[in-house]
Amino acid sequence: LWDGHAQRAGEIKVGDIVKFTEAYSSLGLFGFPEIHLGRRGDLRINPPGEELPRVEEKEVSALLPRAKIGEIEGGRARVEIRGTVTRIFHRRPLFDVCPNCGTSLGTVDTSLLCEQCGKVVSPEHRAVLSFLLDDGTGSVRVVLFGMVAERLFGMSANQILRKLKETPDLAEFYGGFGFLGKEFIIAGVVRQDKYSNQLELRGYEIKIPDAKGEVKHLLESIKERTTKVEEERV
Ligand SMILES: [Zn+2]
Repeated sequence: LWDGHAQRAGEIKVGDIVKFTEAYSSLGLFGFPEIHLGRRGDLRINPPGEELPRVEEKEVSALLPRAKIGEIEGGRARVEIRGTVTRIFHRRPLFDVCPNCGTSLGTVDTSLLCEQCGKVVSPEHRAVLSFLLDDGTGSVRVVLFGMVAERLFGMSANQILRKLKETPDLAEFYGGFGFLGKEFIIAGVVRQDKYSNQLELRGYEIKIPDAKGEVKHLLESIKERTTKVEEERV
């Protein structure tokens, strides 16, 4: 959900019917389909007259398997990684998309022709941030898009644009955020880039390590190990 729709996310409960109009779909970087609702779209929660067959409610575990970077093998996996930022890639922190179909329009701030829609559109800005995360066993290139990136910047895409205009030098721009050396826990999908052989993590959620959460993780992993040992004994 983008723009004003994002603020309504808290109104949606498990079991609600949601109806999107003028939404667009795109193939996410890791091959999962995504549905986006932008400025022009409409979101209705439990619209009258709409019925859907009952579905099974799934408990989504908040705890993803914590992975050690050095132990990740090829293929795709949903993981959580804890590490330290060792390098920021000084790419432009914004790219533009067509507000109608979501097609990426590149990185120019003026009105552009969307080839998909066949007309000139006024682009929407999306934030992007990428850096190298190291956990002592290896390093992974992290890429954050949209609201996940905005959360880490602590700014909306439009605020990022204003700051970028004040500080066009990218080294100076990124320096102002102090990301280097910070420790984060990032949940997302990891995969190995075929060409560069570099591991890449597309982050969906970012947490700053806290003692309570870490203890919970530790207990979970001990429990898991104990169960495994018991299974082996049988
Ligand atoms: Zn378009």
